[in-house]
Amino acid sequence: MDIRNVVIMGSGCAGHTAALYSARANLKPLVIEGHEPGGQLSMTTLVENFPGFPEGIQGPELIENMRKQAMRFGADYHTGHAVKADLSKRPFELSVGKETIQTRTLIVASGASARWLGLPNEHALIGHGVSSCATCDGFFFSGKEIAVIGGGDSAMEEATFLTRFASKVTLIHRREQFRASKIMLDRAHANPKIAFLTDTVVDDVLDVGKKEVTSLRLRNVKSGESWDFPTSAMFLGIGHIPNAKIFESQLETDADGYLVTQKNVLTKVPGVFACGDVQDRRYRQAITAAGSGCMAALEVEKFLEEEGL
Ligand code: NAP
Repeated sequence: MDIRNVVIMGSGCAGHTAALYSARANLKPLVIEGHEPGGQLSMTTLVENFPGFPEGIQGPELIENMRKQAMRFGADYHTGHAVKADLSKRPFELSVGKETIQTRTLIVASGASARWLGLPNEHALIGHGVSSCATCDGFFFSGKEIAVIGGGDSAMEEATFLTRFASKVTLIHRREQFRASKIMLDRAHANPKIAFLTDTVVDDVLDVGKKEVTSLRLRNVKSGESWDFPTSAMFLGIGHIPNAKIFESQLETDADGYLVTQKNVLTKVPGVFACGDVQDRRYRQAITAAGSGCMAALEVEKFLEEEGL
């Protein structure tokens, strides 16, 4: 079996950047694309804060450009996602479908996936009005009323984007203060199609019997009052959970499951590096993910050189 110099798990900003740098270092990286190829950028719309694009660039286009750039220098891409990892010996082993891949070094760039509320009926209505991806599913609710849950930048971005389709968007947030940046919050406030409901939580989503969203059961956390709020869809923008489960008990994680790194990208296992949203709970930006992908690739080069590999 071929032993790879470096395998990169994940194909978001961090993974593609690590692939570009390690490909240009002639390491012939293998990228395992993961179950959400392209990561979070592939599910977003206009990215206005990635330097180099004064007019902004669509997230899917940006990520596709990164992929092409890495491939141009010889990065290999493999569809599928790693279900098991053995980091106890070298070469490390990854199980991807029925295949076992061996590698001298590993870059974990598996990102983070959308968080769900965990409501009794939520799962049954995913794809029937419950969604975590406005760009994927917004179109289906043209002319309808939509609810967006969350108080961060994702929720503001989703709510603003969804006004393209919806007759009205109601942003529902569990507190009165918002975590979102001022510019995103101001934009949402200024949009006449967006209404705000604060101090409010969702206790359930209805109606599983009809296989569509008809209303949300809401509760005001201050007054305790409960009511049914009619809506055609519920979009979640409540953050993400790091994709590090396969490394449980092999790599150190913090209380929320983010991989713990030293000097930005080093894990406790020599030869295993982590970059992007799977290890970054502080910045979580496309540009910082790309930057840490670059660092991980440079560390791989250094590691292989030092080990005489
Ligand atoms: P976030 O900043 O962690 O915000 C998550 C929001 O969801 C918070 O308001 C939180 O409420 C709420 N929430 C979490 N769990 C909840 C639950 N179980 N029930 C109800 N509400 C819940 O996540 P994010 O908005 O996805 O942003 C993540 C990062 O990406 C941030 O750094 C952000 O700046 C960045 N981002 C940037 C852009 C942009 O610049 N274009 C766009 C999107 C995201 P609390 O506030 O009460 O905790």
